[in-house]
Amino acid sequence: MSGSPIWHPFTQHGLGEPIPLVTRAEGAVLTTQDGRRIIDAISSWWVTTHGHSHPRIMAAIAEQAGRLDQIIFAGWTHEPAETVARELVRVTPPALSRVFFSDSGSTCVEVALKMALGYWRNRGEARQRVIVMEHSYHGDTIGAMSVGARGVFNRAYEPLLFDVTTIPFPAPGREQATLDALAAACADAAALIVEPLVLGAGGMLVYSAGVLAEMRAVCAAHGTLFIADEVMTGWGRTGTLLACEQAGVVPDLLCLSKGLTGGAVPLAVTLATEAIFDAHWSSDRSRMFFHSSSYTANPIACAAAAANLAIWRDEPVLERVATLAARQRVRLDAVARLPGVHNPRALGTIAALEIGDPAGAYLSDIGPRLLGFFRERDLLLRPLGNTVYVMPPYCIDEDQLDAVYAAIGQAAARFG
Ligand code: PLP
Repeated sequence: MSGSPIWHPFTQHGLGEPIPLVTRAEGAVLTTQDGRRIIDAISSWWVTTHGHSHPRIMAAIAEQAGRLDQIIFAGWTHEPAETVARELVRVTPPALSRVFFSDSGSTCVEVALKMALGYWRNRGEARQRVIVMEHSYHGDTIGAMSVGARGVFNRAYEPLLFDVTTIPFPAPGREQATLDALAAACADAAALIVEPLVLGAGGMLVYSAGVLAEMRAVCAAHGTLFIADEVMTGWGRTGTLLACEQAGVVPDLLCLSKGLTGGAVPLAVTLATEAIFDAHWSSDRSRMFFHSSSYTANPIACAAAAANLAIWRDEPVLERVATLAARQRVRLDAVARLPGVHNPRALGTIAALEIGDPAGAYLSDIGPRLLGFFRERDLLLRPLGNTVYVMPPYCIDEDQLDAVYAAIGQAAARFG
């Protein structure tokens, strides 16, 4: 046993990898206890959109902590939550008029799934099946795992998972197969859940806005609810506030987390249409939405989210995103020419490629070896198997990006 009693997430302790102790973070730089300065090229776990310790978000947290720490949210409310809800309704499509708070990406997905099933049950229709996309990832709680790809992540927990209908990933040239499978599954399905435009943990797989729009249309034609899981793609990651915007898609349910607080503290929301809210609205208590957690809409987290939304309102965030996207594109194109680099792809601030075997498996030892290689170079990059992706905070500068892509080039030379 090592000195610490901590059991870390998604960490195989038996590999003996060092676990750096981080003492500070500012902008795109983490500082460790032993004084190393690490470039955070993946925004912590894809959350830190504006950069670490953003002064406006930190100030909002401090101010709120001195005023109201926590209040039960069943039947009570507070100003930060009201501000966040109003602002979210303002910046998302008009059809999304109701905001339900939760605490993580997984829980806002659980909420969306429960709302979808509650909607059909309260309407007296027997629609229970959920349609999912091949290679998807929606989180690690039971419902979120159920709608995610089956594999090494969840094999041990299969008995806990419910059955779903899986449609193929719409790789270029295979879009029609996806649409046909969706149409065939839709008739009595409760909902489709998708990660719009980019599948994250499934390998940073990019698909077209056109097929996303067509999938939305198929769902609409069959009355199947469309759930957009924008936990990763939201908050500018793909170049627009929401990825759905690029396809002109308005979902029935929208899941947001990660960058909701600028990545400072945990919070999530599920936005729903009035029709879904209405299906639960009644004087009959058995029709209400049965979900909460102790810390639902914690005021300090909501204050951070309100500060994030204020940054989006007052500052040219999308211009920063566009600048970062262009800077990454140049560097990605350069490393793409190196031997050993496969399938370079990018959307907005997300860039990805494979090193070595393009079909490299998640469990092969290249993942940990790449992780160690980047860590030795003072970089936080956490490849998915041999898929190396960059998803930096929007404040990362040119020199820092140079260091990231130089290391990726060296990794291609070593492992490609
Ligand atoms: N949905 C998507 C698309 C994600 O990428 C993630 C996390 O990476 C989740 C849901 C789960 O979020 P969390 O880890 O906050 O539970």
